[in-house]
Amino acid sequence: PEEAESQNLTDGFHLIIDALKMNGIENIYHVPGIPVTDLGRMMQAEGMRVISFRHESNAGNAAAIAGYLTRKPGICLTVSAPGFLNGLVSLAHATTNCWPMILISGSSEREIVDLQKGDYEEMDQLAVAKPLCKAAYRILHAEDIGVGVARAIRAAVSGRPGGVYLDVPASLLSQVMGAAEGLKSLIKVVDPAPAHFPAPAAIDRALSLLKAAKKPLIILGKGASYAQCDDLVRAFVEKTGAPYIAMSMAKGLLPDDHEQYAGAARSLVLKEADCVMLIGARLNWLLSHGKGKQWGEPHTKKFIHIDIDPKEMDSNQPIDAPLVGDIESTLGTMLEKMDDWPVPPAEWTGAVYTKRAQNVERMAPKLVNNNVPMDYHGALGRLKRIFADHPDAILVNEGANALDFARSVIDMSKPRKRLDVGTWGVMGIGMGTAIAAAVETGHPVVCVEGDSAFGFSGMEVETICRYGLPVCVVIFNNSGIYRGTDTDPTGRDPGTTVFVKEAQYDMMMRAFGGEGVTARSPDDLERAVRDAIASGKPTLVNAIIDPQAGTESGRIGNLNPQSVVSKK
Ligand code: ADP
Ligand code: MG
Repeated sequence: PEEAESQNLTDGFHLIIDALKMNGIENIYHVPGIPVTDLGRMMQAEGMRVISFRHESNAGNAAAIAGYLTRKPGICLTVSAPGFLNGLVSLAHATTNCWPMILISGSSEREIVDLQKGDYEEMDQLAVAKPLCKAAYRILHAEDIGVGVARAIRAAVSGRPGGVYLDVPASLLSQVMGAAEGLKSLIKVVDPAPAHFPAPAAIDRALSLLKAAKKPLIILGKGASYAQCDDLVRAFVEKTGAPYIAMSMAKGLLPDDHEQYAGAARSLVLKEADCVMLIGARLNWLLSHGKGKQWGEPHTKKFIHIDIDPKEMDSNQPIDAPLVGDIESTLGTMLEKMDDWPVPPAEWTGAVYTKRAQNVERMAPKLVNNNVPMDYHGALGRLKRIFADHPDAILVNEGANALDFARSVIDMSKPRKRLDVGTWGVMGIGMGTAIAAAVETGHPVVCVEGDSAFGFSGMEVETICRYGLPVCVVIFNNSGIYRGTDTDPTGRDPGTTVFVKEAQYDMMMRAFGGEGVTARSPDDLERAVRDAIASGKPTLVNAIIDPQAGTESGRIGNLNPQSVVSKK
């Protein structure tokens, strides 16, 4: 009789699993522990793909990028207080980048937390999470799990996507209810990210500005690659005939060898353009807030801006033609009204493409050396060729010099193939991002990592080996942050920005059964990475780079405050 009864019952564990599965969520990025250990096990038993990490920030970074790649919320599942806080870093990162993610954390009972009676891992997690994400909810009763999960999903993916916190007290998981009643309480979210069209007047305003431009420029951001309307973006850009540049994660949305791509003439187009159209890109620090020397004469440009979030308009510069809507609906509507579109003046496009050719030609010889020790260009020149031969491979990229040089050297030819440090320019996204990229797409992943950047998530090479993922981690090992040459002026300790010289990171991968290779020349490096992609085996290539080769803070050294007292 007891068995018969249990067959008609469900509980909090299973209702959460059923609610997620009902909404098409299959992958969970997780670190097990009280009170969610059994939840992770049951998710796996119910056929979900559960990837267990070694640190919650890495699981969270995986969930964040899964959201970016799939337009479904990436799920990170953690324990209470400290595990929750580790995951929260990534939830804030997802929110800042406008990617949908849900952090589900176990928590202590309200009765104890609210009176601060001192529980195991006690913390008022909901209050802590609220200011750092797009929305935060707590579920107290099993019959509310359907509503809680539905609201979390809708909040994460609708409008400007972002991170959502879902608080799951331990006692919720074991709450019991009738199975049939439980099933009825679940919600399959209808149209979670509804289309959003700008008004016709806004469309006409933008089109007449664009049409009147003598020197139009389009800037594609990662919001445009997130929108997954790749053919439409391409059709629009081609219809305008305007030169375009791509923000780092929008590289490859149109292939980087596209005839209108002005990436190699970036300085010229930003300075000279008279009409700039932003598509899913913010005018934030990554674009120098749309002002300063880089942008030429002040008040000489018109701005057109497509963004789903009305509050983004005028954030730094007056927007002459705001287009508040989703990129697919907006560009689709614009295109319908663009028959007989004039080509931009040849004087403008000619100047841009001439400059581009000059810059490409200037860079080319630097990319073909076989120097030992390696410099950034020699090493990246080889990786550039490898990516040209493997257009489906995903590039994960973080570091300072390793980031800045790789972004300008390695071309992407397909959308959403370049995954990097995003809006914060944060270090530590590497292994979490690589793992989710492999899990969500099944394509080979090559990480180009500074040795410092790698250190923030390096332990996850065990995770990569454990799940047998096709990830090749290339460490640009210059034995330090920016450079490997700092010393302690007092002579007591190592300099603050250096690491163990020529550390053998390759042995970390071997410790867990993967391949580990040291590469001292571009030839070695090219061979090792090609082998890794061909075999699909977890591989770490320790690429020894000249410690002198880098520059302070890569390309953003200007952001460092300077001391007048203590001169370098
Ligand atoms: P980048 O760093 O590449 O410049 P940002 O992350 O700064 O890109 O900007 C992306 C922008 O795209 C955000 O302001 C976000 O609101 C917007 N966005 C995201 N998805 C969509 C969409 N489907 N339609 C319109 N705008 C979107
Ligand atoms: Mg370094």
